[in-house]
Amino acid sequence: MDCPACHTATRVLETRREDRGAAVRRRRECPSCGNRFTTFEHRERPPLFVVKRGGRRERFDAEKLRDGMLRATYKRPVTAEQIDAIAERIEAEAEAAGGELDASRIGELCLAGLGGVDRVSYLQFAAVYRQLADVEDVQVELRRLRASSSSASASNGRERGVAGAPIPSDDDASIASPPERGQRAGNSRKDLARREHGAHRQRR
Ligand SMILES: [Zn+2]
Repeated sequence: MDCPACHTATRVLETRREDRGAAVRRRRECPSCGNRFTTFEHRERPPLFVVKRGGRRERFDAEKLRDGMLRATYKRPVTAEQIDAIAERIEAEAEAAGGELDASRIGELCLAGLGGVDRVSYLQFAAVYRQLADVEDVQVELRRLRASSSSASASNGRERGVAGAPIPSDDDASIASPPERGQRAGNSRKDLARREHGAHRQRR
């Protein structure tokens, strides 16, 4: 690779395996101007698609997916690396499934991933994702969780109510559409707890 400053061919100072061999990191130096920089080599993933309700396909957008999870984990003790790992698992499942996943499956995988990391983030994501008719149930659950937690990060979370959480637009390719009205009766707190139990099982 050429030097970005003077366009002379560079030499490799150091080569390291990253991500358990999924990527290669190279430290390079320009023999002409002394410029040093790093390059990464990784496999190009084939294009992935989201199958929306009604069968419409859209290009899978991992950045949008990460943004949705980042909003749900605002001021919560969840790292960007943990969100990346959830997104990576979803991309891997889509690829293993032949390059596409149902939008609803993607939503469930986000919930399962967040449920294994932080319960408040899980509930905040669930509140937006499912557009719960019984949002009050979630708010009661959040108040109970925060009351039982003495950590600073948990008290910071109080500034962010479920009602203030952003609602993904219908065009959001990565976040599944909310369930039909007829299904909302099933979104009770018990239902959430059951789903979360499933998430923990899946994590093992
Ligand atoms: Zn140079």
